This record gives sequence, C-alpha cells and structure tokens, in this order.
Amino acid sequence: MTRREEPQDPDRKESGDVPSPEGLAEGLARGDRRALARAITLVESGRAEHRRAAETLLDAVAERRAASTLRVAVSGAPGVGKSTFIEALGAHLVAQDRRPAVLTVDPSSRVSGGSILGDKTRMPELARNPGAFVRPSPTGNAYGGVARRTPEVIMLCEAAGFDPIVVETVGVGQSEAAVVSMVDMLVLLVLPGSGDELQAIKRGIMEQADLVLVNKADGALEDAAAATASEYASAAGLLPGRWRDWRLSVHTCSALTGCGIVGAWAEMQRFRTSLDAEIRANREEQALHWLWSEVEAGLGVALRESSELREARAHMEGAVRRGELAAPVAAARLLRRIFAR
Ligand code: GDP
Repeated sequence: MTRREEPQDPDRKESGDVPSPEGLAEGLARGDRRALARAITLVESGRAEHRRAAETLLDAVAERRAASTLRVAVSGAPGVGKSTFIEALGAHLVAQDRRPAVLTVDPSSRVSGGSILGDKTRMPELARNPGAFVRPSPTGNAYGGVARRTPEVIMLCEAAGFDPIVVETVGVGQSEAAVVSMVDMLVLLVLPGSGDELQAIKRGIMEQADLVLVNKADGALEDAAAATASEYASAAGLLPGRWRDWRLSVHTCSALTGCGIVGAWAEMQRFRTSLDAEIRANREEQALHWLWSEVEAGLGVALRESSELREARAHMEGAVRRGELAAPVAAARLLRRIFAR
C-alpha cells in the first residue's frame, strides 16, 4: 500500500518553502483563519522538513488550548444528511457567537483521488461564514476513513479559538471506532424507517454512539421518524454505554427545515457539561493511545527505511517469500536483532 504524502487539493499545494512555525502560532493566537489553513497544510505534509516545523508549531500551541472545548464526530451513511445537518448546526452556532470548525474526512480520496465528502461546496454557507472554519482533510494513511493527522488538526483549530470541533465522517462501521479515539462525542445520523438499528448494534456502532438523531423527520416521514426513534431508544436500553454518567440519547430532527437542531445542540452541550471530568480523563487516555500509535508508526517507517537494516530486511523477506520462515518468526528475529544492538 502506498502512503499518500501530499494533500490532493490543488489549493493546498505548498511551494518548497517551509512556513515559519512561530509566525503560524502567532496567527493562530489571533484566530486568523488563513494561518489556520496554512498550519493544517503544514501538519498534513509528509515532507521531513515540514514535519519538523509542524512539531515546533504543535509544541508552541499545546499549552494555549482551552480545555473546555467539545470535539464531536458526526457520522452516518451517505445521503443521511450529514452535510445538511452540519450546515444547519453551524448556522445556529455562529448565530450564538460560537466559532465552529468542521473537518470533513473523506475515506474515498485515497482510492479514487476523487471526493465524496471533502468538498467545501457541500457546506457552501458555512464555508463562506467568517465565524466558521470548514476544512476537508486527505485520508492519507487512513485509520478506517479518519486521517492520521486529524488529532493534530483538532489541536490547531482549538489553538485558533474554534469550538466546537465537528469531524464529519462517512459511517462505514470501521470509521466510527477510529474517530471515537479522537473526539469526545459521537453523533450518529440515521434515516426514518431504515430498520438499521439491529445492523448498527451488530456492527458495534451503537455502542460507540452518544447521540442518535433520526434525520429527515419532516413531511411524509415525520411519523416514521418518531417510530424509528423509539425503536432506537429501546435498543439503546440494551447497551452497556461508554460513560458512567451518560446514556445514549435518541432524538428526531430535520436538517432541511431546521426542526430539532437547537435541541440536538442542547443535547451536545448537556453531554459536554455533565461529563466534564470523564471527558478530561478520556482525553488523557486518548493522548496516551496517540503517543503509542505515533511511536509504532514511526518505528515502522524507520525499520523499513533504515539503510543499516537493508541486508537483514532482504534476508528475512526472501526467507518469508520462499516459505522457509513463518512471518512471525522472521519478525521476532528481526526485532531481536535490532534491539540487541
Ligand atoms: P450526506 O451524504 O450524509 O452528507 O447527506 P446530504 O447532507 O448531502 O443530504 C443528502 C440529501 O438528503 C440531500 O438531497 C439533502 O437535501 C437531503 N436532506 C438532508 N437532510 C434532510 C432532511 O432533514 N429532510 C429531508 N427531507 N431531506 C434532507
């Protein structure tokens, strides 16, 4: 599998220059959206000199972030109304003088080079709104549809004063588990009458979700939406729940008419305030998980690229290809050799 090193969006291609991390950090402290866009481009770059500058930048902003932000993922099948919902929620937040940042994570881009999510025009109003920040991310070295650098991008958005941070991802099962390791809350959008609740339980999505919204509760679908919501609510009663002080909450809404959007936001705020201590503890666990997954990713690259190990690698790969050594045996010998040095 090849790893995408550079962002695919043409407007995100940087010249060879390495931007000054100090200058970017100052821009972020002022809440400058252009500085934020450039800072994100920097952390998403795979080039070694960009990576070093990104480290300086992340170090500079780490202390400056507010601890009281809400990081929320919005997930659901294609067509359920995620973009419409985030557009409506974003408008409501901006009207309340909040500064939402929306990161759309596109699981399709690595495969097709195309985009089913990561297109700014899918949230045209919010993208134009000076109080909000909308940014598609390349999936890159994907964790099931969530970009590897998403946690860094969240840090930068918070350093620039944005709150809440909304991460939009397509619900394909795997992506929820990955995104939950990066956010505080998972909001799952579902359709009326879809009968998906058993499927969702089977795939473990419901166990991760904190709020289920039955969208498109308007017109002819209003009654079906209410029925679907009560089915989800009774299914929710069977689940253990991720938090001590929160049970999965189920509501209906219409992203199109705006009905239920204020209530959905009120639920998100209730989640954030009533779980403050649990969320802090969860963020500590997430940071440790992040530390070790970065160490593992870095080790993997170092081992594959180290010139000192070229011979040993070729020897083990040859033996595994020919079936002379089982892969785990070859891996264990290679590791012993490295750490014995
Ligand atoms: P996404 O793929 O999950 O981001 O879905 P979109 O936001 O692109 O919406 C898919 C389609 O559903 C669009 O045609 C929307 O206009 C429509 N849609 C979204 N929300 C609602 C809603 O609350 N009610 C109705 N009737 N249609 C909606």
